[in-house]
Amino acid sequence: MTAADGAARRGVMTTAHGVVQTPAFMPVGTQGAVKGVLPRDLAGLGAEIMLSNTYHLHLRPGDDLIARHGGLHRFIGWDRPILTDSGGYQAFSLGERRTIDERGICFWSHLDGSEHLLTPERAVEIQANLGSDIAMVLDECLGYPATRDEAASSMERTLRWEKRGRERFLGLRAEGGMRKAEGRPSALSPQPSAVFVTNPGQAQFGIVQGGTHIDIRVASAQATVALGFEAYAIGGLSVGELPETMYEVVQATTPHLPEDRPRYLMGTGTPADLVESVARGIDLFDCVMPTRNARNGQLFTSEGRLNIKNARYADDPAPADPACGCYACRRFSRAYLRHLYVAGEIGAAMLNTLHNLTFYLDTMRLIREAIVFGSLEKLRLDYCRIFARRPVDS
Ligand SMILES: [Zn+2]
Repeated sequence: MTAADGAARRGVMTTAHGVVQTPAFMPVGTQGAVKGVLPRDLAGLGAEIMLSNTYHLHLRPGDDLIARHGGLHRFIGWDRPILTDSGGYQAFSLGERRTIDERGICFWSHLDGSEHLLTPERAVEIQANLGSDIAMVLDECLGYPATRDEAASSMERTLRWEKRGRERFLGLRAEGGMRKAEGRPSALSPQPSAVFVTNPGQAQFGIVQGGTHIDIRVASAQATVALGFEAYAIGGLSVGELPETMYEVVQATTPHLPEDRPRYLMGTGTPADLVESVARGIDLFDCVMPTRNARNGQLFTSEGRLNIKNARYADDPAPADPACGCYACRRFSRAYLRHLYVAGEIGAAMLNTLHNLTFYLDTMRLIREAIVFGSLEKLRLDYCRIFARRPVDS
């Protein structure tokens, strides 16, 4: 941590592939690619870390194949830090195509129907093959709403899974040096069942669960910290609860997490969520919102949300966001962006994504500056005002 403003922290996170200035936002590259933007351009936007999804990469092209190709960084052409999730959330989201018991999550692939068992140990091994800089431990994702009893027993299972996941991670780390000394596995002699530690400097984050029940969250935080991970995440939020409820849970949880370790709020959120959560002690975010909304024609701007497909932009010469310095806003009019969208051009997704990611990364830059200058409260009020409104064109 290098500065603080209330509960907000300005810091630097060190990983095996370089440092990340925090608070930071991680663009989501589900299949090892952030949709609509090349790794080169993502780096050009100033993204210092990205997220990839273990579930998808495990099923296709396979984490063992990625290991044979030298790990995820080399495979996808991104040499900055990568965080991978555990795969649990996506397996959980399969609904009727999965069952959960003490062993882990048994699921049927959405691609070919094949059966898989994702255990806490497997989640560690798959991420070791991928070689991400930050691996997430497997947790149980609780549906919303959940009763107190459901939240408590789910949180207890998550703790048992976290203990198993941590043990496997430390076991692999101990073996990792040896594997490395043996040399990189050859593409000519693949060993699909083997585990290759493609990133010996990988860190593992624990996850706090407990639904919206504050006392269960606090118990989860304390017990997870006792297991001793490199850092900690808050999971199971942004699942349908009100934003105010999420902020309350975050505010009650962060004081129970170590001050000198990053705190990651998983799967969140709107621009206002970023500022509100930083103000409550969060350092890391990921969300599909900027990229997914871009592909649907919804832009985040300094004046609020803007739907570029709206007919009122058909003849509008102004940039999408006059306050934005991105390539899309410097070069093109709303009229052109709307035309691309209506015509179904690939360029629409590319330019809209470029803009939305710029907006999110700029937001994090503003947040970091505000923490240093002690003006986060003003920024928080500005973002609340701008994004509480309906889209600017509705
Ligand atoms: Zn822009």
